[in-house]
Formats: sequence, C-alpha cells, structure tokens
Amino acid sequence: MMRVGLGWDIHRLAAGRPLMLAGVAVPSPLGAVGDSDADVVLHAVIDGVLGAMAWGDIGSWFPRDAVAAGQPSGPLLARVMEQLAAAGGTVLHVDATILLEAPRLALHRPAFTESLARQLACRIVSVKFKTEDGMGPIGRGEAVACWASVMVDA
Ligand code: MG
Repeated sequence: MMRVGLGWDIHRLAAGRPLMLAGVAVPSPLGAVGDSDADVVLHAVIDGVLGAMAWGDIGSWFPRDAVAAGQPSGPLLARVMEQLAAAGGTVLHVDATILLEAPRLALHRPAFTESLARQLACRIVSVKFKTEDGMGPIGRGEAVACWASVMVDA
C-alpha cells in the first residue's frame, strides 16, 4: 500500500551554533538552536515517515527530555527506519524543501541528496531550496525550516 506523510520543522538561528541539514554540516555564521542538533531536514523527514505510517510524531517518539542537546538526529531517524523495516515498509521517494535566507544552499544539494538517500535507503530523493524574500522570521534570517513529503510502501 502506498502512503504519503508530510513533515515540517522550524528552528531558530543563532551565532556560534553548527548548522546541520540532512545530516550534513553546512558552513554558516549562524546555526540552528533546538532539541538534539536541530536538524530541520531530518526532523521533517522523521515526521514524514511517521505521518505516512500514522505512527504519531517526532515528539511522541523522542520526548524533549529524552534527547540531549546537540545529539545527532541521524540515530533518531535510524530508529524510525528500523521500525519501518520491521513493519515491512520502505521509503520510495522523499521531496524536501529547505527554507533559509542565507547561506545559499544549492552547492550542498548533492551532499544533502546522498545523505538522505543513504539514511532512507531510497533512490529517489529531491531537495529544493527557497528564501522568503525578506519576509517573516525566515526572511529576516532568524530561522530555518523544512517541509518534507515522504512516500512509503508498506
Ligand atoms: Mg526539530
């Protein structure tokens, strides 16, 4: 059965923090602040997988108190992927859109795509980039966000 889940995440940006996106460290004067390593792409993808399976959300799987500050998000996604495999599910396609004013990310598209393909064991991976034209918290460079749709065969 084909299923689609939609994930979304947003984190504040601050100086002196690493900017992790899709498990890749991106050179940037500002990094994301939040739970774990604040990787909005992996968090949105996790919610996409969970949404496709109707398995709740990232907060119900990984309560804030149980996730250490700075902890990599890759192992969290790996836990969800283990459960998906145990349920006979596979990810067929992911389409992620990262919303960030600066730095421009197109240079990193191959690294993001390869990282997601490996972590999701998925050959069809799309990563897109948007700015918000100076509007709102993302446009003012105060936040980074990501949408992800995930198609699962389960
Ligand atoms: Mg998050």
